[in-house]
This record gives sequence, C-alpha cells and structure tokens, in this order.
Amino acid sequence: MEKLAPPFRKIIHVDMDAYYASVAQLDNPELRGKPIAVGGGGDRGVVSAASYEARKFGVKSAMSNVLAKQKCPHIIFVKSDFARYKELTSKIREIFFEYTDLVEPLSLDEAYLDVTENKKGNPSANDIAREIRQRIYDETGLRASAGISINKFIAKVASDINKPNGQKTVHPDEVIQFLEELPVNKFYGVGKVTAAKMYNLGIFVGNDLKQKSLEELKTLFGKSGAHYYNIVRGIHNSPVKPNRIRKSIAAERTFFENISSEVFMLEKLNKIADELEKRMIKSSTKGKTITLKIKYSDFTQQTRSKTRSTFMQTKQEFFPVVKELLYQEKLKNSVRLLGISFGNLNTQKKVPVWVQLKFDF
Ligand SMILES: [Mg+2]
Repeated sequence: MEKLAPPFRKIIHVDMDAYYASVAQLDNPELRGKPIAVGGGGDRGVVSAASYEARKFGVKSAMSNVLAKQKCPHIIFVKSDFARYKELTSKIREIFFEYTDLVEPLSLDEAYLDVTENKKGNPSANDIAREIRQRIYDETGLRASAGISINKFIAKVASDINKPNGQKTVHPDEVIQFLEELPVNKFYGVGKVTAAKMYNLGIFVGNDLKQKSLEELKTLFGKSGAHYYNIVRGIHNSPVKPNRIRKSIAAERTFFENISSEVFMLEKLNKIADELEKRMIKSSTKGKTITLKIKYSDFTQQTRSKTRSTFMQTKQEFFPVVKELLYQEKLKNSVRLLGISFGNLNTQKKVPVWVQLKFDF
C-alpha cells in the first residue's frame, strides 16, 4: 500500500455543532429538543443556522425562512445574538491556547490548531482533540466535533465525518486511501461548478483525479490544477496561521453590590489575581505590564498601568504591583467591577515556528 513518509504535522480542525442554534438552546432550555432556526427577517429572511432537530426535516442554513417553514411547519425562529456567540467563542479559544499558540480561526465556530508541538507535551493529537471537546462541553455546555490529520484540508474534511459530538482521525498511514476514496466535491477548493466539470470528465473520487497528469490538470483547471494534483497526494503544506496574536490576558469580576472600602477591594483583587495566575501558568505566559481596571458605580471606567523591566507570571511577582496601582490615587466613587490584565507578553515576540514538510515519493 502506498504510504506517505514522515515527519508529519498534527492538525486538528475543531467545529462547533450547529453553533448558533445550540447557543440558543443552551440559553433557553425551553428550546432544547425542538426544531429551531436562527435568523430574523420574517418571510424574507434566510436561515443562518438550524438545530439538529430542524435538520431532520431538511432545514438547512441559507434556506429561505418560507421554505424552512414548509419543510417543518412547527419550526421556531429565534434571533441571532452575536455578542453572546463572541463571548462563548473567546472562552473556547482560551481553551485552545492552553494547548497551542498556533490557532487559526476560520469563523466564530471553527478553528485549526497545530498541535505538532504542544504546551501539554502530549504526542497524541487524537487525545488532545478529545480533551478539548470535553473541556468545551464542561466549560460552555456546547458540543464540538473534530477532525485530526496531517494537514488542514484533511482535518477539515474529517471533522464532518462523525458529526455531531464526534471526532475522526485520519492517520498518516490512511491518508492516501482516504483521499483516493474521497468524493471530489469534498475536496478543498472544489465548488459546485468545478465538481460538475469533473463529473463530466469522469472524475468522481480522488482516485479518478489521481489518474490525471499534472499537465492535464493544468490545462483543464488552470492554476488550480497543480493544487488538485497535490492535495489528492496528501500534499497541502499551508501552515496554521494564527491571525490573532494574543496581546493580553485578563481576569475581572463584577460585584453584586458596589464596594467602596479599599481593604475590601484588595480582598477581591486577591481572588482575581489567583484566577489570573492560573491562566498565566496554564498558558505558559509571562508579561511585563500590569493594568488595573476599575469600573465605578456611575459606569465610568478607569485604568491604571505599570510596566516592569522583567517578566512576571506568579501572583507573588505581580500582586505587589496591583496593590501599588490600587493605592496610587483616591477612588472617585464606589466600585462595581475590578479587573487585572497582563500586557507586554512574552508570547507577542515569539514568531510561530512550524515544520515545513517535503514528501518523498
Ligand atoms: Mg459548525
């Protein structure tokens, strides 16, 4: 059997299950187990996400609301809530960052992770994916699926296979066979038009595509020809590009009652600092700048910062700075929120390193 040669990257594609619909069901228990569609616009609107209960009736995203109602007369329409999606997405990304800094979000509900080298020192990408999915569930109540393989393209195809709430690993030894059997419309970059063109040429699965020479593919598909030639052979070296470099790590707390005693605030800051220390250590991050955020009962906000010449990480190192900042000047009013954040992080200057592969044939 034909096999690829190592070294291999370990790429995970994490995809939230019916994200917007699941968030609506998470926040509104009365919607659980029911067919729902997210998206406004009434009769002129389109579905932006459908719950699995609605999908059973054939309701899909991008379908008109009218058609969705025809397919599933008792469907419940709910409004989207992007502030909430973003809040949950950032929670989920915090989990990713505990494993690797090489996180490339594709949208609010999907991301690639390169865990070839990871912060946990865990050699099994399959185990990491399972752990991440469990943590997402424990910390948000939402389900995710994952695909694991040697490149982004195969990982993405794989995350769909055992959806929802499942994962699929395409092991390096299985890659060639997996691609040979893969329908061409599942190939990255093959849309409806290209797929139709391929069908006309008798190309239905990867193996059919593989029978075409590089020259033939270039003549038929122009620039994309070489891309198809490569991906069907497991060659897709596009790195996981972290498009967001984390600039700060913060922890904050809003109080039920406004507080005005500084001693009491110090006590609260102590707890916030514990939380922040945990995050700093978990993500192997250090920072030089400490910012204290104070939100007053009249909703005005103040920040006070101090930068040290050396990196800090533990509470023992940074809490004296927090204390200084608190007592630095008199408080204007009673306080409803306190936060501490770390800036000037050691991770900012680090240029991500990824392994570029050459495959031998
Ligand atoms: Mg999704």
